[in-house]
Amino acid sequence: MSSRPLTPTTHAIQVEKPKAFIFGPTQFTFLQLQTEEGMDARPMSLATSPTRPHLEYAIRLSDSAYKRAFAALRPDDEVRVFGPIGDFLLLETRPAVLVGGGVGITPLKGMAEYAVDKALPIPIRLIYSNRSEDEIVYRHELEALETLNPHFRMLNTLTRTTDRGWKGATGRIDQELLRQATLGLADPIYYVSGTPSMVVGMVRLLRGLDVPDSNIEVEAFRGYE
Ligand SMILES: Cc1cc2nc3c(=O)[nH]c(=O)nc-3n(C[C@H](O)[C@H](O)[C@H](O)COP(=O)(O)OP(=O)(O)OC[C@H]3O[C@@H](n4cnc5c(N)ncnc54)[C@H](O)[C@@H]3O)c2cc1C
Repeated sequence: MSSRPLTPTTHAIQVEKPKAFIFGPTQFTFLQLQTEEGMDARPMSLATSPTRPHLEYAIRLSDSAYKRAFAALRPDDEVRVFGPIGDFLLLETRPAVLVGGGVGITPLKGMAEYAVDKALPIPIRLIYSNRSEDEIVYRHELEALETLNPHFRMLNTLTRTTDRGWKGATGRIDQELLRQATLGLADPIYYVSGTPSMVVGMVRLLRGLDVPDSNIEVEAFRGYE
């Protein structure tokens, strides 16, 4: 097990993959930890592709006993993984638009890694919203994937930046940004991941763009506002 901060408010761990553990890009598991208040298991998206050697998880830090225990994990500590669960899965034959907010990037990062590792020829666009530049979770990893995969492009937007040097988009993801990011894609599938309110907002926007529900997949991180 290894542990590292990702941004000032997010933290990741890598965990040994249990033997014969098979999952799709990218499902979630329950992750059980020993906390000050006893054992606690939460649903957590896998933050890496099944093609990679380890399992990975990332959280937004909070003051809950679970999150404190997660951030304090040490190399010899044990965690328990129950799963995999869910049907938030990358369709390997259709253009993909990944739409994420903050730590909602976890399953989307797994999908982007999977596409590189499998050399999938499908175009993949990531529209990723964060408050500020230093809060872009997995920025370096995602930029590395962009250089490895000519079909993968990331489009960042910042909702609270005051940095005049920022060259990307600003403000929340809106219809204009979605339209811009999906230019030239034929009938893509949209994969939306984030807090329940973010997911509801994005589905509303997509419906407003006449995207049929059959082309929208969602992962809502219950437990967040
Ligand atoms: C499919 C799925 C994938 C997820 N993936 C991630 C991930 O990759 N990274 C991440 O940080 N979080 C993820 N979450 C959310 C995670 O399980 C936690 O609920 C969340 O991080 C809040 O934890 P907390 O300890 O800060 O909240 P707390 O302070 O413990 O809880 C805040 C409030 O939400 C309630 N609550 C907490 N968890 C749940 C829950 N799962 N369902 C219903 N009510 C709940 C609590 O009772 C409390 O009222 C995921 C959730 C789901 C359902």
